[in-house]
Amino acid sequence: MQRDEQIFELIQAEKERQLHGIELIASENFVSDQVMEAAGSVLTNKYAEGYPGKRYYGGCEVVDEVEQIAIDRAKALFGAAYVNVQPHSGSQANTAVYHACLTPGDKILGFDLSHGGHLTHGSPVNFSGKLYSPVFYGVEEETGVLNYDKIQEIATKEQPKLIIAGASAYSRDIDFKRFRVIADSVGAILMADISHPAGLIAKGILNDPLPHCHIVTTTTHKTLRGPRGGMIMMGQDFENPFGIKLKNGNLRKMSSLLDSAVFPGNQGGPLEHIIAAKAIAFGEALTDDFLNYQLQVKQNAAAMAAALVAKGYKIISGGTDNHCMLIDLRNKNLSGKDAEQALVKADITVNKNMVPFDDKSPFVTSGIRLGASAVTTRGLNEKDMIDIVELVDKVVTNYENDAVLEEVKAKVNAMMKDKPLFV
Ligand code: PLP
Repeated sequence: MQRDEQIFELIQAEKERQLHGIELIASENFVSDQVMEAAGSVLTNKYAEGYPGKRYYGGCEVVDEVEQIAIDRAKALFGAAYVNVQPHSGSQANTAVYHACLTPGDKILGFDLSHGGHLTHGSPVNFSGKLYSPVFYGVEEETGVLNYDKIQEIATKEQPKLIIAGASAYSRDIDFKRFRVIADSVGAILMADISHPAGLIAKGILNDPLPHCHIVTTTTHKTLRGPRGGMIMMGQDFENPFGIKLKNGNLRKMSSLLDSAVFPGNQGGPLEHIIAAKAIAFGEALTDDFLNYQLQVKQNAAAMAAALVAKGYKIISGGTDNHCMLIDLRNKNLSGKDAEQALVKADITVNKNMVPFDDKSPFVTSGIRLGASAVTTRGLNEKDMIDIVELVDKVVTNYENDAVLEEVKAKVNAMMKDKPLFV
């Protein structure tokens, strides 16, 4: 068969873009070459509906081993008692949890999207806001941080069945212990979505949700630096709170409800090539090198935040405890959209983002979100973060001047020239 040059040329063009640019999108990272190899392996050919040892297809002996290794490594990495590695994405993981724990119309309490939450935490444009009845908590206008007393008040008033702790654009550590007190006070299930800080949590750099939350979901491709995908975990298995019984009259454990919610509830065949890549990424994450990487991510993000503040940028909450930060650009007189577009012209990639109490639409926004995970993977350090902030500032303050953007682009390309893409 003829090689599909049209697509391979585009893949090459994307590789060049990634190689030459500065990647500051907080949800992105660069996987290792062995993760990439597994993701493009023959395992993509295999159907394996079911779970290791209980499949609906023959010939699953090899993928059974692969999936079991992925589960065991994830358990070791997070200290989890239960793991499901099959969700195709973070959204699929959250869908499965809601499917297992809720019935349509049930109330859920999540982090407001415009304050840093995720679409799947009850946004009206997402299934989670259409199928369930969402109510929200947010950050304080003056401080940009969560106020747990207010979250308690909302929970007491609204009596949600499920509370979601976690965000896509919140730069402070989350108090999962306090969230559990709130959840227990109203009899709610507590789910943590650690998609963003999972890598830092895995290495003990941020608060651990596993001892406090009933269920924990994550993506595997952000700070965790694995392939694009999702995962569900529990620190301990627990009886389902709604009394759903097995045929023999015993209560079904939460793990059994979650497994059924993933398959056959929401998905068919698992992506065993991606599960193999997840297993490799979890193996990498178990090493001391990965601890050093996460420590550098945190230091780089802190250096980036400090340099931005020194240049008069308003970071929501004033700084960062993790890998990311949300910048309110309203004092710089350009929108998030303007900034994103100008930065792309200079080969710096960020995403526009709503800021708390934003007066602009999600297509325009008043802010941008930055993260240090991807540039840290490419070997950049605190000194480089200060240089990057210089370049970002040059673009933001000259966003309509194409000559300046070209000048910055040349500096960006020179900076990234010898930086490897793969670990
Ligand atoms: N949850 C959070 C907190 C996220 O930030 C994201 C992705 O940005 C997701 C879930 C969804 O992940 P995916 O894009 O894999 O569906």
